[in-house]
Amino acid sequence: MFCNQCEQAANGTGCSTVAVCGKPAVVSDLFDLLLWQTKGISYLVNEARKADKKDPEIDRFIIEALFLTVTNVNFDEDVVATWIGKAEAIMDKAAALAGIDRNGDVPAAVKWSAKGKTEAQYIVEAQIHPITTFHANEDIQSLMQLLTYGLKGLAAYAEHAAVLGATDESIFAFIPEAFAALINPATTLEQLVGLNMKCGEVNITCMAILNAAHISHYGTPEPTSVPTGTVAGPAIVVSGHDLYMFDRLLDQADAAGVNVYTHGEMNQQKEFDGQPAAFIFNTNCIQEPKASYAKQVFTTSVVGWPGCQHVDGYDFSTVIAKAKELGGFTAKEGKPLMTGFGHDAVLSHAETVVGAVKSGAIKHFFLVGGCDGAKPGRNYYTDLVEAAPKDSMILTLACGKFRFNHLQEELGNIGGIPRLLDVGQCNDAFSAVKIAMALAEAFECGVNDLPLSIILSWYEQKAVVVLLSLLHLGIKGIRVGPTLPAFITPNILNFLVENFDIKPTGNSGRGDLEEILGVA
Ligand code: SF4
Repeated sequence: MFCNQCEQAANGTGCSTVAVCGKPAVVSDLFDLLLWQTKGISYLVNEARKADKKDPEIDRFIIEALFLTVTNVNFDEDVVATWIGKAEAIMDKAAALAGIDRNGDVPAAVKWSAKGKTEAQYIVEAQIHPITTFHANEDIQSLMQLLTYGLKGLAAYAEHAAVLGATDESIFAFIPEAFAALINPATTLEQLVGLNMKCGEVNITCMAILNAAHISHYGTPEPTSVPTGTVAGPAIVVSGHDLYMFDRLLDQADAAGVNVYTHGEMNQQKEFDGQPAAFIFNTNCIQEPKASYAKQVFTTSVVGWPGCQHVDGYDFSTVIAKAKELGGFTAKEGKPLMTGFGHDAVLSHAETVVGAVKSGAIKHFFLVGGCDGAKPGRNYYTDLVEAAPKDSMILTLACGKFRFNHLQEELGNIGGIPRLLDVGQCNDAFSAVKIAMALAEAFECGVNDLPLSIILSWYEQKAVVVLLSLLHLGIKGIRVGPTLPAFITPNILNFLVENFDIKPTGNSGRGDLEEILGVA
């Protein structure tokens, strides 16, 4: 195995014998094979689209297969092997759609067939297609991996949107186009730079349709106080980003008298151990369940962990039964947290915010967002938020916020608006971008001219595509941490520094804060 797609990559280079995330080596190899097949399918779909031929089943398969390979989604060898079998059937369908003979003059990824092969043979043949062999030139390889991981993140968001019935042709056309380029040996470094930027652009469309789908199904986010304690009674803890699944579960749990909770995602082994609740993961990020609570863990959709019960579809009666069997929590009061500061909510206060900037009450904005992770070094973000001066406003989103959103009260308000505004999930990066653009418009300047610093924490491939979206928008000076991606070569990093002024996060949040604000 070799995998370097996430921030945890062993020794800052990649996991080669043991995966830091717990992914078995055979699963890693099978993912490489599934990715290889997805490229073959993409080549055929791209050719078919040139003749205006499309198939929604194939389009959906591509995004689901990619989502399956995202970090902390699926660890089950048998499930991945099943997907390889499905990909073979989809490849045939795509060849028929494109009118292309799989044995003709086509890329090797189209020719490779899973027909008649066993899971053991898949594992042997998977060794031929590791992610390290995209290209002999290390900078082209680096850009190819950046694009591949960006496409995985894009596919994950596209799947969230598709679950809610929201799709966009630009997404389904771009993913195959990009993969077709990735298996074309003639693709140049310059073309790969362009494709990475386009990936970021298409992802903005994707986050926009996802945002619209969330609003049309569940309403416009508005500032809401959310309790963080427990109430007495049976409990289900949900992890993930699939709001449709969440909504269906809420209906069923409500009728059964079971309470539903969310959590901060990356502290599972500590938070779940010994809790009398059922846990269900609907998207990333599942971590290896400890034996003490593994029997309480359920997965659904593309998520899987060997030995954990999987729920197909939306009948959650087994999860509800487990929650009742476990008895649930006793009542314990928790600190309420404010959330729901989407772009509509924040921009409804635009005049106040603009006025506060003009009067000097707000001197700086920080966008501190992104993933949480399990490695040390993530207290950087808490440190920075704690030390941010009182005349600054902090926007946050995604699960990294669980490191500091308990500080809301002590951070206080500016002009009646909380200084720490929780914009939402990682896909709500779209909302943060809209807020930044609206501020730039109000001040008649560019986003890069605003007193705004963006500090991102990355962990997996959704963060990669969000970063590509910010780069596509021309946003400069972004700090990325806690470590830089293992797949970025020194030359590509130089390119990003020269063109986008990207900076790695420093040793401490306070140190970087001083640098940002020009304090000696
Ligand atoms: Fe390592 Fe991350 Fe890949 Fe898991 S997903 S094998 S932790 S690089």
